[in-house]
Amino acid sequence: MDGGQGPFGGGYSYTTSGFDGFGDFGDLGDIFSSFFGGGFGGRQSTRKNSGPKKGADLNLNMDITFEDAFLGVEKEVTITRNETCDTCHGTGAKPGTNPVKCPQCHGTGQISQVQNTILGQVQTTRACNNCHGTGEVITDVCENCKGKGTIRKQPRIKVKIPAGIDDNQTVVLRGEGEPGTKGGPKGDLYITLRIKRHSIYTRKGNNVLCDIPITITQATLGAELEIPMVDGSKEKYKIPEGTQTGTKFTIRNKGFKYVNSQSEGDFIFTVQVQTPKRLTKEQRELLTQLAKTMNEQPPVKKRGIFG
Ligand SMILES: [Zn+2]
Ligand SMILES: [Zn+2]
Repeated sequence: MDGGQGPFGGGYSYTTSGFDGFGDFGDLGDIFSSFFGGGFGGRQSTRKNSGPKKGADLNLNMDITFEDAFLGVEKEVTITRNETCDTCHGTGAKPGTNPVKCPQCHGTGQISQVQNTILGQVQTTRACNNCHGTGEVITDVCENCKGKGTIRKQPRIKVKIPAGIDDNQTVVLRGEGEPGTKGGPKGDLYITLRIKRHSIYTRKGNNVLCDIPITITQATLGAELEIPMVDGSKEKYKIPEGTQTGTKFTIRNKGFKYVNSQSEGDFIFTVQVQTPKRLTKEQRELLTQLAKTMNEQPPVKKRGIFG
Protein backbone atom coordinates (compact mmCIF):
# COMPACT_ATOMS: atom_id res chain seq x y z
CA MET A 1 0.00 0.00 0.00
CA ASP A 2 1.32 3.39 -0.90
CA GLY A 3 0.68 5.87 1.85
CA GLY A 4 0.52 8.83 -0.51
CA GLN A 5 2.34 12.07 -0.02
CA GLY A 6 4.06 12.42 3.30
CA PRO A 7 4.20 15.53 5.44
CA PHE A 8 7.37 16.74 3.77
CA GLY A 9 5.98 16.69 0.23
CA GLY A 10 8.37 16.87 -2.68
CA GLY A 11 8.49 13.26 -3.75
CA TYR A 12 8.45 11.44 -0.44
CA SER A 13 5.98 8.73 0.22
CA TYR A 14 5.73 5.90 2.66
CA THR A 15 4.85 2.32 2.04
CA THR A 16 4.45 -0.65 4.31
CA SER A 17 5.12 -3.34 1.75
CA GLY A 18 8.26 -2.11 0.06
CA PHE A 19 7.59 -1.82 -3.63
CA ASP A 20 4.94 -0.24 -5.72
CA GLY A 21 6.78 -0.05 -9.02
CA PHE A 22 6.22 -2.45 -11.87
CA GLY A 23 8.61 -0.69 -14.21
CA ASP A 24 10.16 -3.76 -15.77
CA PHE A 25 6.96 -5.65 -16.53
CA GLY A 26 6.32 -3.44 -19.52
CA ASP A 27 9.00 -5.25 -21.47
CA LEU A 28 7.40 -8.63 -21.14
CA GLY A 29 4.45 -7.74 -23.32
CA ASP A 30 6.71 -6.36 -25.97
CA ILE A 31 8.82 -9.49 -26.07
CA PHE A 32 5.68 -11.53 -26.73
CA SER A 33 4.24 -9.14 -29.26
CA SER A 34 7.48 -8.94 -31.20
CA PHE A 35 7.65 -12.71 -31.31
CA PHE A 36 4.10 -13.30 -32.42
CA GLY A 37 3.74 -10.13 -34.41
CA GLY A 38 5.64 -11.10 -37.55
CA GLY A 39 4.49 -14.71 -37.92
CA PHE A 40 0.75 -14.19 -37.78
CA GLY A 41 0.57 -11.10 -39.85
CA GLY A 42 -0.03 -8.82 -36.91
CA ARG A 43 1.36 -5.40 -36.25
CA GLN A 44 5.07 -4.81 -36.10
CA SER A 45 5.90 -3.67 -32.62
CA THR A 46 8.73 -1.41 -31.71
CA ARG A 47 10.91 -2.97 -29.09
CA LYS A 48 10.70 -1.20 -25.77
CA ASN A 49 14.42 -1.32 -25.06
CA SER A 50 15.14 0.87 -28.04
CA GLY A 51 13.07 3.64 -26.41
CA PRO A 52 13.27 5.43 -23.06
CA LYS A 53 13.54 3.13 -20.08
CA LYS A 54 13.24 3.91 -16.41
CA GLY A 55 16.37 3.39 -14.32
CA ALA A 56 16.61 0.60 -11.75
CA ASP A 57 15.34 1.13 -8.21
CA LEU A 58 17.77 0.96 -5.29
CA ASN A 59 16.98 -0.59 -1.92
CA LEU A 60 18.69 -0.19 1.40
CA ASN A 61 18.00 -0.70 5.09
CA MET A 62 18.58 1.88 7.79
CA ASP A 63 18.66 1.41 11.57
CA ILE A 64 17.22 4.23 13.66
CA THR A 65 16.55 4.64 17.37
CA PHE A 66 13.15 4.43 19.02
CA GLU A 67 13.34 8.18 19.76
CA ASP A 68 14.15 8.98 16.10
CA ALA A 69 11.09 7.01 14.99
CA PHE A 70 9.01 8.83 17.59
CA LEU A 71 10.19 12.37 16.82
CA GLY A 72 11.14 12.04 13.16
CA VAL A 73 14.69 12.68 12.02
CA GLU A 74 16.75 13.72 9.04
CA LYS A 75 19.56 11.33 8.16
CA GLU A 76 22.22 11.15 5.48
CA VAL A 77 23.04 7.96 3.63
CA THR A 78 25.80 7.21 1.18
CA ILE A 79 24.56 5.23 -1.78
CA THR A 80 26.38 3.81 -4.77
CA ARG A 81 24.74 4.43 -8.12
CA ASN A 82 25.50 5.34 -11.69
CA GLU A 83 25.21 8.98 -12.61
CA THR A 84 25.19 10.58 -16.03
CA CYS A 85 28.74 11.28 -17.21
CA ASP A 86 29.45 15.03 -17.08
CA THR A 87 31.90 14.87 -19.99
CA CYS A 88 29.64 13.32 -22.64
CA HIS A 89 26.27 14.03 -20.95
CA GLY A 90 25.38 10.37 -21.18
CA THR A 91 25.96 9.74 -24.88
CA GLY A 92 29.16 7.76 -24.33
CA ALA A 93 30.74 9.49 -27.31
CA LYS A 94 33.83 11.66 -27.09
CA PRO A 95 32.78 15.34 -26.97
CA GLY A 96 32.69 16.74 -30.48
CA THR A 97 31.97 13.35 -32.05
CA ASN A 98 28.61 11.76 -32.69
CA PRO A 99 27.45 8.15 -32.67
CA VAL A 100 27.05 6.69 -36.16
CA LYS A 101 24.31 4.50 -37.58
CA CYS A 102 24.90 0.82 -36.74
CA PRO A 103 26.10 -0.94 -39.91
CA GLN A 104 24.70 -4.33 -38.87
CA CYS A 105 21.05 -3.31 -38.43
CA HIS A 106 21.22 -0.11 -40.52
CA GLY A 107 20.06 1.96 -37.57
CA THR A 108 16.85 0.06 -36.81
CA GLY A 109 18.22 -1.64 -33.68
CA GLN A 110 16.56 -4.89 -34.76
CA ILE A 111 17.58 -7.98 -36.65
CA SER A 112 14.75 -9.93 -38.32
CA GLN A 113 14.95 -13.62 -39.06
CA VAL A 114 12.53 -15.87 -40.98
CA GLN A 115 12.25 -19.42 -39.67
CA ASN A 116 10.37 -22.37 -41.17
CA THR A 117 8.17 -24.07 -38.57
CA ILE A 118 5.17 -26.40 -38.60
CA LEU A 119 2.97 -23.31 -38.55
CA GLY A 120 4.62 -22.01 -41.66
CA GLN A 121 7.11 -19.19 -41.80
CA VAL A 122 7.62 -17.29 -38.57
CA GLN A 123 9.45 -14.03 -38.55
CA THR A 124 11.23 -13.30 -35.31
CA THR A 125 12.79 -10.01 -34.38
CA ARG A 126 15.55 -9.60 -31.84
CA ALA A 127 17.62 -6.70 -30.66
CA CYS A 128 20.77 -6.10 -32.69
CA ASN A 129 23.73 -7.40 -30.71
CA ASN A 130 26.15 -4.97 -32.30
CA CYS A 131 24.40 -1.84 -31.00
CA HIS A 132 22.29 -3.53 -28.28
CA GLY A 133 19.12 -2.32 -29.92
CA THR A 134 20.04 1.34 -29.91
CA GLY A 135 20.63 1.59 -33.68
CA GLU A 136 23.79 3.59 -33.09
CA VAL A 137 27.40 2.73 -32.41
CA ILE A 138 30.07 4.95 -30.93
CA THR A 139 33.33 5.13 -32.81
CA ASP A 140 35.17 7.58 -30.53
CA VAL A 141 34.35 6.69 -26.93
CA CYS A 142 34.27 9.22 -24.10
CA GLU A 143 37.45 8.77 -22.08
CA ASN A 144 35.80 9.72 -18.81
CA CYS A 145 33.16 6.96 -18.81
CA LYS A 146 34.77 4.59 -21.35
CA GLY A 147 31.68 4.90 -23.54
CA LYS A 148 29.13 3.80 -20.95
CA GLY A 149 27.59 7.25 -20.57
CA THR A 150 27.50 6.84 -16.80
CA ILE A 151 30.00 7.05 -13.95
CA ARG A 152 29.83 5.09 -10.69
CA LYS A 153 29.40 7.59 -7.86
CA GLN A 154 28.72 7.56 -4.13
CA PRO A 155 26.54 10.56 -3.38
CA ARG A 156 25.30 11.39 0.10
CA ILE A 157 21.53 11.64 0.16
CA LYS A 158 19.43 13.39 2.79
CA VAL A 159 16.52 11.29 4.01
CA LYS A 160 13.66 12.79 5.98
CA ILE A 161 12.13 10.17 8.22
CA PRO A 162 8.67 11.18 9.42
CA ALA A 163 7.67 11.00 13.07
CA GLY A 164 5.69 7.86 13.75
CA ILE A 165 7.35 5.59 11.20
CA ASP A 166 7.18 1.94 12.23
CA ASP A 167 9.58 -0.96 11.96
CA ASN A 168 9.90 -2.29 8.38
CA GLN A 169 8.18 0.69 6.82
CA THR A 170 9.78 2.17 3.73
CA VAL A 171 10.55 5.73 2.75
CA VAL A 172 10.60 6.22 -1.01
CA LEU A 173 12.78 8.90 -2.60
CA ARG A 174 11.53 9.33 -6.13
CA GLY A 175 14.22 9.77 -8.75
CA GLU A 176 17.18 8.89 -6.49
CA GLY A 177 17.81 5.50 -8.11
CA GLU A 178 19.82 4.56 -11.18
CA PRO A 179 19.59 6.84 -14.24
CA GLY A 180 17.18 5.90 -17.02
CA THR A 181 18.34 5.18 -20.54
CA LYS A 182 17.42 7.06 -23.70
CA GLY A 183 15.96 9.91 -21.70
CA GLY A 184 13.89 7.62 -19.45
CA PRO A 185 13.20 8.69 -15.86
CA LYS A 186 15.49 7.84 -12.96
CA GLY A 187 14.68 4.92 -10.73
CA ASP A 188 13.64 5.36 -7.10
CA LEU A 189 15.42 4.80 -3.80
CA TYR A 190 13.60 2.64 -1.22
CA ILE A 191 14.85 2.91 2.36
CA THR A 192 13.42 0.38 4.79
CA LEU A 193 13.64 1.46 8.44
CA ARG A 194 14.57 -0.90 11.21
CA ILE A 195 13.84 0.51 14.62
CA LYS A 196 16.16 -0.46 17.46
CA ARG A 197 14.72 -1.83 20.68
CA HIS A 198 14.47 0.56 23.61
CA SER A 199 15.49 -0.33 27.15
CA ILE A 200 12.32 1.18 28.71
CA TYR A 201 9.66 1.62 26.05
CA THR A 202 7.98 -0.78 23.68
CA ARG A 203 5.58 -0.02 20.86
CA LYS A 204 2.25 -1.63 20.14
CA GLY A 205 0.55 -0.12 17.12
CA ASN A 206 0.96 3.58 17.76
CA ASN A 207 0.82 3.21 21.54
CA VAL A 208 3.92 3.45 23.73
CA LEU A 209 4.05 0.98 26.60
CA CYS A 210 6.29 1.00 29.64
CA ASP A 211 6.57 -0.22 33.22
CA ILE A 212 6.84 2.34 36.04
CA PRO A 213 8.16 1.14 39.40
CA ILE A 214 6.37 2.57 42.47
CA THR A 215 6.88 2.06 46.21
CA ILE A 216 4.47 0.25 48.51
CA THR A 217 3.58 3.56 50.16
CA GLN A 218 2.87 5.25 46.80
CA ALA A 219 0.66 2.31 45.88
CA THR A 220 -1.10 2.33 49.25
CA LEU A 221 -1.53 6.07 49.83
CA GLY A 222 -1.73 7.23 46.22
CA ALA A 223 0.87 9.54 44.69
CA GLU A 224 1.64 12.07 42.00
CA LEU A 225 4.13 10.42 39.67
CA GLU A 226 6.44 12.03 37.13
CA ILE A 227 6.28 9.82 34.06
CA PRO A 228 9.20 10.10 31.58
CA MET A 229 7.88 10.57 28.04
CA VAL A 230 9.68 9.36 24.90
CA ASP A 231 10.51 12.95 23.85
CA GLY A 232 12.36 13.55 27.15
CA SER A 233 9.61 15.57 28.83
CA LYS A 234 7.83 14.53 32.04
CA GLU A 235 4.10 14.16 32.58
CA LYS A 236 2.56 14.43 36.04
CA TYR A 237 0.05 11.69 36.72
CA LYS A 238 -1.92 11.06 39.94
CA ILE A 239 -2.46 7.43 40.84
CA PRO A 240 -5.19 6.76 43.41
CA GLU A 241 -4.70 5.23 46.83
CA GLY A 242 -4.96 1.47 46.89
CA THR A 243 -3.35 1.03 43.46
CA GLN A 244 -2.58 -2.62 42.76
CA THR A 245 0.59 -3.74 41.06
CA GLY A 246 0.03 -4.37 37.35
CA THR A 247 -2.59 -1.61 37.00
CA LYS A 248 -2.42 0.17 33.63
CA PHE A 249 -2.85 3.93 33.27
CA THR A 250 -3.27 5.78 29.97
CA ILE A 251 -2.02 9.24 29.05
CA ARG A 252 -3.96 10.12 25.91
CA ASN A 253 -2.27 11.26 22.68
CA LYS A 254 1.29 10.88 23.96
CA GLY A 255 2.10 7.89 21.77
CA PHE A 256 3.45 7.73 18.22
CA LYS A 257 2.07 10.06 15.57
CA TYR A 258 0.23 8.51 12.67
CA VAL A 259 2.46 9.27 9.67
CA ASN A 260 -0.34 10.35 7.35
CA SER A 261 -2.70 12.05 9.78
CA GLN A 262 -2.74 14.47 12.68
CA SER A 263 -3.64 11.98 15.41
CA GLU A 264 -1.45 10.14 17.89
CA GLY A 265 -1.52 6.92 19.84
CA ASP A 266 -1.52 6.79 23.66
CA PHE A 267 1.13 6.35 26.33
CA ILE A 268 0.19 3.41 28.55
CA PHE A 269 2.18 2.66 31.68
CA THR A 270 1.88 -0.29 34.01
CA VAL A 271 2.78 0.29 37.65
CA GLN A 272 5.00 -2.30 39.29
CA VAL A 273 4.96 -2.16 43.08
CA GLN A 274 8.47 -2.69 44.39
CA THR A 275 8.72 -4.61 47.66
CA PRO A 276 11.65 -3.06 49.53
CA LYS A 277 14.63 -5.36 49.90
CA ARG A 278 16.51 -3.22 52.42
CA LEU A 279 15.02 -1.08 55.16
CA THR A 280 16.52 1.38 57.60
CA LYS A 281 16.05 0.62 61.25
CA GLU A 282 13.37 3.31 61.45
CA GLN A 283 11.51 1.99 58.44
CA ARG A 284 11.56 -1.52 59.85
CA GLU A 285 10.10 -0.31 63.17
CA LEU A 286 7.39 1.68 61.40
CA LEU A 287 6.46 -1.25 59.24
CA THR A 288 6.39 -3.54 62.24
CA GLN A 289 4.01 -1.12 63.96
CA LEU A 290 1.89 -1.05 60.82
CA ALA A 291 1.87 -4.82 60.66
CA LYS A 292 0.57 -4.99 64.24
CA THR A 293 -2.34 -2.70 63.40
CA MET A 294 -3.19 -4.96 60.47
CA ASN A 295 -3.30 -8.04 62.71
CA GLU A 296 -0.38 -9.55 60.93
CA GLN A 297 2.40 -11.67 62.34
CA PRO A 298 5.40 -9.31 62.73
CA PRO A 299 8.41 -10.47 60.74
CA VAL A 300 10.90 -12.64 62.58
CA LYS A 301 13.94 -10.53 63.30
CA LYS A 302 17.04 -12.13 61.94
CA ARG A 303 19.97 -11.32 64.13
CA GLY A 304 23.07 -9.96 62.45
CA ILE A 305 21.69 -9.00 59.05
CA PHE A 306 19.85 -5.78 59.86
CA GLY A 307 21.75 -5.01 63.09
ZN1 LIG B 1 31.24 10.03 -20.77
ZN1 LIG C 1 22.64 -2.47 -34.66
